[in-house]
Amino acid sequence: MGNAAIYARSSLGKNRQGDTVEHQVAMIKEFATRSDIMVEFDDNYIFEEDGESGYKTTLLQRPAMRRLMESIDNGEIEIVFFKGISRFARDSGETITTAKRLSNKGVRVISLEENFDSFRDDPTMFQIYAVMAEQESRKTSVRVSLGNKQKARMGLWSNSTTPLGYSKIKDLEDELKNKLVSKGFHPHSLYPNDDSIIIEIIFDLYVNKGWGRKKIVSHVNEKGYRTKKGNLFNEKIISDILNNEVYVGNIVYGKKRYEYVQDDEDSSSRKVQKEIKLSEDDWARKDNAHPPIVDEDVFKKARSLIAKRKGMYNFGKKFNAAKHPLTGLLVCGKCGQTMICQKRTNKTKSGDKKEYRYYVCSTYHTKGRSVCNQKNINATKLESGVFSKLYNEMNEYLKNVDVESKVESQKNIQKQYQKEMTLIENNMNKKVNASKTLMEMRDVYDKETFMQLNKEINEEIKSLRKQLNELKSNMENVEGESFVYDISLHFERAKDINHDNLVELRDFFKSVLSSVIISNEDITEINSLLKIS
Ligand SMILES: [Zn+2]
Repeated sequence: MGNAAIYARSSLGKNRQGDTVEHQVAMIKEFATRSDIMVEFDDNYIFEEDGESGYKTTLLQRPAMRRLMESIDNGEIEIVFFKGISRFARDSGETITTAKRLSNKGVRVISLEENFDSFRDDPTMFQIYAVMAEQESRKTSVRVSLGNKQKARMGLWSNSTTPLGYSKIKDLEDELKNKLVSKGFHPHSLYPNDDSIIIEIIFDLYVNKGWGRKKIVSHVNEKGYRTKKGNLFNEKIISDILNNEVYVGNIVYGKKRYEYVQDDEDSSSRKVQKEIKLSEDDWARKDNAHPPIVDEDVFKKARSLIAKRKGMYNFGKKFNAAKHPLTGLLVCGKCGQTMICQKRTNKTKSGDKKEYRYYVCSTYHTKGRSVCNQKNINATKLESGVFSKLYNEMNEYLKNVDVESKVESQKNIQKQYQKEMTLIENNMNKKVNASKTLMEMRDVYDKETFMQLNKEINEEIKSLRKQLNELKSNMENVEGESFVYDISLHFERAKDINHDNLVELRDFFKSVLSSVIISNEDITEINSLLKIS
């Protein structure tokens, strides 16, 4: 005979008072005694999720839930009690899969709030309750973020933790605080504190000294500076700082939200938290909301440096093996084999040594002129030839295309998708309400009719969900098509390239070219990765 388990988790928000874990356990015990379910509870099988661990994480990331599942998998549990299905998970898909896992193990599930008993009720009921719980929790979180959005529009800082270098005015020393408030500053506005020196140093090193993030990290850590939480700096934190508009005095809120999605790398039904970037139209913003720590000019320079170095970093890493700008890209037009680069040192008339590089067909190199008679070709000359062809091509393209209007039309498509998504979401809300009503009127219908109606609503919800997912992926595709913008970025980068720096030139070629074909000294074909056509 297996045991009876209780899973309890407190809810967040306004109603949390009185809804403690202890209270839930007591309620469940009371309920079990009154009903005809004959169980005895063993303290070992009371699973209490404490603190906020039950909030932002997915189901199996919660310690108590994991222990419960383990006990179930070990066959120790026969029956599980919950106060409500909403205690289970915020995501209905996850709730439903987990419920299936329980029923496959023959475990009986009882939820007090919904009066649901898996031995008595149809499993579709459980699904409807799960969808309702998810809708309910989404509404709560929307409400919360709306409040924050309004604060942000007013130029106030809505999070409890402030960014490094800033304090809320209300948290400053009394003298300064009173002075600022009497000048009309809002107590929830940001104001630079002593840590702002760290921010100044980071921007100075990056923009004026040209240091990379790695070097900056070790410098500030060695100096004894620490993050807001007292931790050491790392490259990600430096990037976040360099990208944060808060340091020029602006408040930007709502750049992303989180959603639970299927984990592609996990064959089980686990869901992971995914960050969804929202379009700029949806951000709440207030410029010049508080005193800046960094000049606008410096900040802009940092942004463009980040974009530039990003490209170089990605490609430089991937193609580290190739030493010469066209290695791996250059193909002999006569035999179709790759061309390799070699160095030779010549003596000039005056007796100085001069090194020069040239590309050789690898067939010619290994099998001789009788197999392929491709000439050796001066590397520097060829590289600058390829570069100017590419440069002109980009230049021509950008001259004839209106980058802004292309980006604009992309935005319009996205807006259209957004509209459709809202429609579907509204529709889904209606369906969920319908199923709620249906449930309330359960007793009016005979079982067969009820089940039929119930099934129909469920299927409609399912198909709406599918449509919504399709729209979401369409939206992502549109985002991926920002090639015009890409080309203008590559073009800007090309203007800055130092041709004596072979690494820089190589990184550029690798990021925009797929191959270059030559025949003797003529470039016969340039295949670029840019969608110029
Ligand atoms: Zn050849």
